[in-house]
Amino acid sequence: MRALVKHPNETGLRLSDVPVPDPGPDEVLIEVHATGICGTDIHIYEWDHWAQEHVPAPMIVGHEFSGTIAKLGSSVSGFELGELVGAEGHVVCDQCRNCLAGRRHLCNDTRGIGVNIPGAFADFIAVPKSNVWRHTQGISPDIAALFDPFGNAVHTALKFPVLGEDVLITGAGPIGIMATAVVAHSGARNAVVTDVNPYRLRLATEMGATCVVDRRETDLVDIKKELGIVEGFDVALEMSGSPAAYQDILDHTIHGANVALLGIPGEPFPIDWSVVIFNMLNLKGIYGRQMFDTWYKMNVLIESGLDLSPVITHRYDAEEFEDAFAAASSAESGKVLILWD
Ligand code: NAD
Ligand code: ZN
Repeated sequence: MRALVKHPNETGLRLSDVPVPDPGPDEVLIEVHATGICGTDIHIYEWDHWAQEHVPAPMIVGHEFSGTIAKLGSSVSGFELGELVGAEGHVVCDQCRNCLAGRRHLCNDTRGIGVNIPGAFADFIAVPKSNVWRHTQGISPDIAALFDPFGNAVHTALKFPVLGEDVLITGAGPIGIMATAVVAHSGARNAVVTDVNPYRLRLATEMGATCVVDRRETDLVDIKKELGIVEGFDVALEMSGSPAAYQDILDHTIHGANVALLGIPGEPFPIDWSVVIFNMLNLKGIYGRQMFDTWYKMNVLIESGLDLSPVITHRYDAEEFEDAFAAASSAESGKVLILWD
C-alpha cells in the first residue's frame, strides 16, 4: 500500500510502498478515504526540534482521517465491514488512575497515532477497537475526516456554557473557526474572533462569527464598545498559542470569566498572574477530546445542522502531498485534505 513515511534526519516525507498492516486480535483495519493535515504533521514534515525529540522515525504520519472498515481482528465484534468510521487519535494505557476511572482523555501515558505509533497517511491503518468511532449515515466522508480537530474545537467550546454569553475566540485557524461555528450554533450573544490573517478572518465570518478583528489594526476596546459589551467577554477560547492573544484575554474578559486554553505556545512566556487572581479568572487547559462524549456531541452538532464545509479549502491526491503540505503551511488555507481513494 501507499504510505507517507517520515525518515529521520531529513525534511519532508516519502510516499513509499509498505505492507498493509495485519490487524491484531483487538484491532480494526480501516481503508482510508480522506486525511487532514494538522500543525503536528507540519512539525514532523519539517523535522523540527520537537519532532526529533518525540517521533521514533521511520514512522507513517497522520492522525486526522475517515475511512471504511476493511477487516476485523479475531476478537472484534460489533462492527460491520464497509462502515464509515474514524478513530480517536490518542491511544490510552487503560492502566493509570484516570483510565481506570473512565477519564481516558486524562491518561498518564497517551500515545499518538501518527506520532508514536503508525498513522493514517496511508491506504490502510490498523487501530485498537476501543479507538474506533462509527459515523452516522449521511455524513460526508470528507466532513468525517475533520472529527479529530473538530473534537478539539467542540471540547474547548462546550467546556463552559455559552448561551447568551459574549465569547472571545483568539485564533482563526481551522480549530478556531470550527469553535466559532459551535459557539454561534449554541446561542452565544456574540462570537468575536481575532487573528492577524485576513484570509482566515474571512473564513471565520463564513463560519458564523458575529465580528472578526484583525489585531494588527483594531483594538478590542473599540469592538466591545461597538457590540455593547460593557465589562468584558464572559468566555474566552484561546486557539492561537500566541502570547499576545493571552494578553488580550487578560485585558478584555469580565471578572470571573471562564477561559478555556487549547492553543499551544511555542515557548514558555511570562503572564501577569495578578490579573488572573484579582479578576478571579477561571482557567481550564484542554487537551484532545473526551472519549467519547466529545465525539457524541460532534455528531449531534452535525445532525442539528452545523455546517463545517467552509473549513475545507484544499483537496489533493496522495501523490500531490508536497503541494498539500505547502498549502497547509501557507497563510491562505483552512483545512487541507489528502484523499486516498
Ligand atoms: P493554526 O496554527 O492553524 O491557527 C492559529 C491561528 O492563530 C493562526 O491563524 C494565526 O494567524 C493566529 N494568530 C497568531 N497570532 C495571533 C494573535 N496575536 N491573536 C489572534 N490570533 C493569532 O492552528 P489550529 O490547527 O487551528 O490549532 C489552534 C491551536 O491549538 C494551535 O496552537 C495548536 O497547536 C493547538 N492545538 C492544541 C491541541 C490540544 O489538544 N490542546 C490540539 C490541536 C491543536
Ligand atoms: Zn492511562
